Amino acid sequence: MIDNFKKLVRPNIQKLQPYESARRIGGQHGDVLLNANESPIFTPFELKKKIFNRYPECQPSDLISSYSEYAGVLPEQILATRGADEGIELLIKAFCDPGKDSIIYCPPTYDMYKINAKIAGITIKEVPSIKNTWQLDLFNIQLNLKNVKLLYICHPNNPTGNIISKGDLISLLEMTENRALIILDEAYIEFIPEKSMIFYLKKYSNLVILRTLSKAFALAGIRCGFILAHKEIIHILNKVISPYPISIPVSNIAIQSLSQRFIQIMKNRVSELNDNRIWLINELKQLSCVKKIFNSHTNYILVRFFMFEEIFNTFWKKGIILRKQNSKMNLEQCLRITIGTRAECFRVIQELKTFSAAFSKRGLA
Ligand SMILES: *Cc1c(COP(=O)(O)O)cnc(C)c1O
Repeated sequence: MIDNFKKLVRPNIQKLQPYESARRIGGQHGDVLLNANESPIFTPFELKKKIFNRYPECQPSDLISSYSEYAGVLPEQILATRGADEGIELLIKAFCDPGKDSIIYCPPTYDMYKINAKIAGITIKEVPSIKNTWQLDLFNIQLNLKNVKLLYICHPNNPTGNIISKGDLISLLEMTENRALIILDEAYIEFIPEKSMIFYLKKYSNLVILRTLSKAFALAGIRCGFILAHKEIIHILNKVISPYPISIPVSNIAIQSLSQRFIQIMKNRVSELNDNRIWLINELKQLSCVKKIFNSHTNYILVRFFMFEEIFNTFWKKGIILRKQNSKMNLEQCLRITIGTRAECFRVIQELKTFSAAFSKRGLA
C-alpha cells in the first residue's frame, strides 16, 4: 500500500535531499547550541493579546508600519512572511515557471535557494563565488543569465561570513535590470547595518531584500521575516501568499520587538556578539588545530580545522554543537561556529585546547 503512494510522489520530491536544519540534525541534543546562528542572548516577551477566535489580517498593518519605521521604507514596499525562508519560496512561486525558468545562486551559500527551486521544479544554475574571497563571479553570472528570472545573493553570506562588494552588487543590478530580480538575503545585516543595500530600492526596481527577526532580533522561535521591494512586486507576492500567514501571537511579539526600546536592546546585543566574535577569532588564531579563519561580519565564523571531523565529534559528545560545512563547495574541513555568549566562546576555546593537547600527546606516543 505504502509503495503505491510512493509512486505518486513527484520525481523531483522523490530525489529531494531536504534541508538539514539544526533542529533536525541535532534535535534537542547539547547544551551549547552553536549550530543555527541563533542569538544566545534573549529578552522575555509577554503576549499582549489573549483572544484568538478571529483570523488575523493577512498583512497585520501594525506590524507592517512598525517594520516600515524601523527599516525606513514605505509600508507598501513590505511583505511580512513566516521567516525569510517563506520569502525565498514565495518569489519562486510568483516568478518561476517549472521546466522553463531558472535561478542563479553562488555556492558556497545558504541551502534554501537550491531546495526551494528543486521543490518547485525550477532549473538551478550554480555560479560559484570566487574561492576564499567569496565575491561574485560577475563574468560567469553574465554568461549564465539566459532564462534566469531570479538571482539569490546572500549578503553577508552564510556560511562564509563575508559581505559582498557594493560595486559588484551595483554592477549586478545594472546587468540584470529589466530582465531578472536580484534577491538580496540580508538575514544578518544587523551585524553590519551600514552595508545594507536598502537605499538602492529607490533606484533599482529589480532589487528585492529579504530580512528576518530570527538572528539579531533573537526571535527565531516566532518565525517572522520580511520582503522589501518595489510596491508592484509586493502586490504580486500578495497574490501567492497564504491567506493568514502571520498569526496574532507572532505579530504581537514582532511589533514589540520593533519598538524603540527593543531596537536599542537588539543593537546592544549585536555589539556584544560582535565583541565576542573578535575575542573568539583572536583566541582561535593561537591554536595549532586551526588551519584558516575566514573573515566574518556576522554572528558566526567559518573555520578550517586540521581534524575537523574529530573536533566536531568530540564537541558533540560534550554537548557543544557546531555545524559541519565540509560538504559544501570549496569548504573542505570547515566548521561553522555560531557566536555564543562570552562563556560559551570561552568553553569552545578551552575544549579546543584540551583537544589539541590530547592529540599532540597521542601524536608523540
Ligand atoms: C537563517 C537564515 C534565513 C532564514 O531565516 P528565517 O527568517 O528564520 O526563515 C534566511 N537566509 C539566511 C542566509 C539565513 O541564514
